[in-house]
Amino acid sequence: MASVIAASPTASSTLADRIDLLAQVTVHSGLGLRAGQELLITAPIDALPLVRRVTEHAYKAGASLVTTMYVDDEATLARYRFAEDASFDHAATWLHDGIATAYRSGAARLGITGADPSLLGQQDPVKVSRANVAASKASRPALELITRHEINWCIVASATPAWARVVFPGEPEEIAVQKLWDAILASSRLDNPDPVAAWKQHSANLQQRAALLNEKRYAALRYTGPGTDLEIGLADGHLWMGGGTVALNGIPCLPNIPTEEVFTTPHRERASGTVRSTKPLSYQGTLIEEITVRFEGGRIVEARARTGQEVLERMLATDEGAGRLGEVALVPHSSPISASGLLFSNTLFDENAACHIAMGQAYSTCVQDGDTLSPEELAARGANESLIHVDWMIGSGTLDIDGVTASGEREPVMRAGEWA
Ligand code: ZN
Ligand code: ZN
Repeated sequence: MASVIAASPTASSTLADRIDLLAQVTVHSGLGLRAGQELLITAPIDALPLVRRVTEHAYKAGASLVTTMYVDDEATLARYRFAEDASFDHAATWLHDGIATAYRSGAARLGITGADPSLLGQQDPVKVSRANVAASKASRPALELITRHEINWCIVASATPAWARVVFPGEPEEIAVQKLWDAILASSRLDNPDPVAAWKQHSANLQQRAALLNEKRYAALRYTGPGTDLEIGLADGHLWMGGGTVALNGIPCLPNIPTEEVFTTPHRERASGTVRSTKPLSYQGTLIEEITVRFEGGRIVEARARTGQEVLERMLATDEGAGRLGEVALVPHSSPISASGLLFSNTLFDENAACHIAMGQAYSTCVQDGDTLSPEELAARGANESLIHVDWMIGSGTLDIDGVTASGEREPVMRAGEWA
């Protein structure tokens, strides 16, 4: 596979060269795009340079058609300023149905993230939440094909001025964008002489870590740290996953670049205790900081946050499953993204910097034979269902995690944030 990379980065590589390299890694390692496949891209309008490079490499790899849908922050804000109230319960259902049709006909999917994390911070949280619920409902059929891994898909990031301003406040825009690109490219293993080989190796390491945890068959994980005393029961027949996966269409892909996590499905009714967030959560353009929640019987019964309390409460009230867990993920505190010391306010990066949990929808692929089970059978194993899937960070250099065996014995899994 290494031969698909035309050029390696050197000290003299320009930013344009390195963005081109990210595009190649995205098409070949991330998507595993096959000749004859359609490719559907969504991207912020400021990600245009990366989109153009990806499009070129996708056609060189034999893509039959590349279609990109751009999102423009200004247009999004115009809706909040000028649209009629009824607009916020409305979504482009026809568009999401078309996307689902594209996936069913074999299209691959690339999401490029880079939106302004604080875009909607000043908008009415009720409208933000209504718009999100409408969009979640409309996109559900398409999203299910993604979460079930029916097709090869990948998410990568592009630096944008609006995002860079949030990560590097106080820096001039040009410097901030350059610094954000450096951080994205370094954590995406682009500074390696052979990034495709580096991703293959890293993916194999994560798969091996997942296999080790699968052998253990822990019934639960026990978390202890400052402000945290939590036990999370794992779903019956849960599967740990990490690194690349082979989609149900037979194509190997790396769903996230970067990725540092191994993750599985918790049991929706078996979390109890208290947990404190260790990084702010950026949700729908609002920063929610210093979250503390208490679980009883798998459900959050108490939730507090220093900022963004109202948005947090609305998020947890989205539906019955929004207050229950859908994912538990382990990331060592020494991961390269964590070592950068940056707060990206973007889930793709922040979730790969720390151990995290997610409220809402579970991945059926993290349950044995998950893709052949009915929704009722998945629920019986403990897999949660919700319109939302929101990751938030609970890991730190002071977090200890034990695995609890079926007979109740405890074994160290992580100590002070590192693999034990
Ligand atoms: Zn995760
Ligand atoms: Zn997640």
